[in-house]
Amino acid sequence: VTSSDLLVVGGGVIGLASAWAAARSGASTTVVDPGRGEAASDVAAGMLAPVTEAHYGEEELLRLNLASAQLYPEWIADLERTSGINVGYRRSGTLLVARDADDNAALDRLFRFQTKLGLAVDRLTARGCREMEPGLSPGVRGGIFVPDDHQVDPAALTRALRAACEGAGVSFVTGRVGEVAAAPDGLRVALEDARGLTAARVVIAAGARSGDVAASVVPLPVRPVKGQLLRLRARGQGLPIDRNLRGLDVYLVPRADGTLIVGATVEEMSYDRAPTAGAVHDLLRRAYELVPGTAELEFDSVAVGWRPGTPDNAPLIGRAALDGVFVATGHFRNGILLAPATARAVATWVESGEVPDDVAPFSPLREKRVAGVPR
Ligand SMILES: Cc1cc2nc3c(=O)[nH]c(=O)nc-3n(C[C@H](O)[C@H](O)[C@H](O)COP(=O)(O)OP(=O)(O)OC[C@H]3O[C@@H](n4cnc5c(N)ncnc54)[C@H](O)[C@@H]3O)c2cc1C
Repeated sequence: VTSSDLLVVGGGVIGLASAWAAARSGASTTVVDPGRGEAASDVAAGMLAPVTEAHYGEEELLRLNLASAQLYPEWIADLERTSGINVGYRRSGTLLVARDADDNAALDRLFRFQTKLGLAVDRLTARGCREMEPGLSPGVRGGIFVPDDHQVDPAALTRALRAACEGAGVSFVTGRVGEVAAAPDGLRVALEDARGLTAARVVIAAGARSGDVAASVVPLPVRPVKGQLLRLRARGQGLPIDRNLRGLDVYLVPRADGTLIVGATVEEMSYDRAPTAGAVHDLLRRAYELVPGTAELEFDSVAVGWRPGTPDNAPLIGRAALDGVFVATGHFRNGILLAPATARAVATWVESGEVPDDVAPFSPLREKRVAGVPR
């Protein structure tokens, strides 16, 4: 029987970042994951976008998103040094553009909202946008430049975190956790194949499937929100844009290796795995409308992933009802961005039993959850 100070359920970005942080603070740590390649973290576009993802009524989440973005530079430098793996952290900013007059009116409203919140944003004319990105369609009407919304390559980030965990002495167990329950000597973690592990503490970070794991502890209201995105590849001339580009219904993320990510659908389709013709068509058309040069790129692949969604679109980070269990899930569209802030919360809890103030509003026991919203 493996016994650890901390057992982490799930080896996506959130579980690995948490395990790395805990192991570095001295806890003997184990990560359990089925290893089936189902992590959203391997599919994500990797935008680190607290400002472009700021929505009305989500100011607490904005604060946490901004705090996590601020942790990024040092966290990445440390991770790259430790793992020897480049994770494609590019600080190129994000350009939000309007395809037509209606979009431009929406950007006016958005710009007023962002400015009221004190966020760093610049309103640009159509010409200002094209000076920044000459590959933009002549139809583009105007934009907002967000200098601090950057990107990372999530698949490389996962590989680096795994290497850093191994370097810090984290053990890995291949399996799927079915149940976490109180035992006389701590917590008993039952795997679906009937193996059992014990641990003093457990973190549930199983992404969209966290609700299944936690069933015996507390029914977490996490559901899979399907996302499809496209990978296009540069041929000869390089990519037609240099920085993250967002329209109101599509985004384009150019990676240093010549890949252009075009995303993404947001679909309530449970665990449907199929890439669909309609999604490919819509994403390509929207990308082409903003940047005609996308039509010249090589079509590489369609990726499908499942965001861990919650009823109020905010993550679940904090102590669960069962003693010794911490929940770190429900990061929905911003799990890559929120990895360092979540890992910091887990490490603080492991060291002191306390939960940092910046994640306090996201307790999994919060009112809206307890109200019994169906999964
Ligand atoms: C198309 C798309 C685009 C996205 N773009 C962005 C973006 O640009 N920026 C951003 O910040 N976020 C983005 N996201 C969201 C981001 O991917 C997620 O919020 C984040 O990856 C969640 O990480 P996680 O570790 O919680 O979950 P996951 O990465 O899903 O990992 C969970 C792991 O737990 C494992 N698991 C499941 N059940 C069990 C069990 N019973 N026992 C043990 N292990 C289990 C799974 O196999 C998996 O490996 C995007 C998501 C999608 C789908």
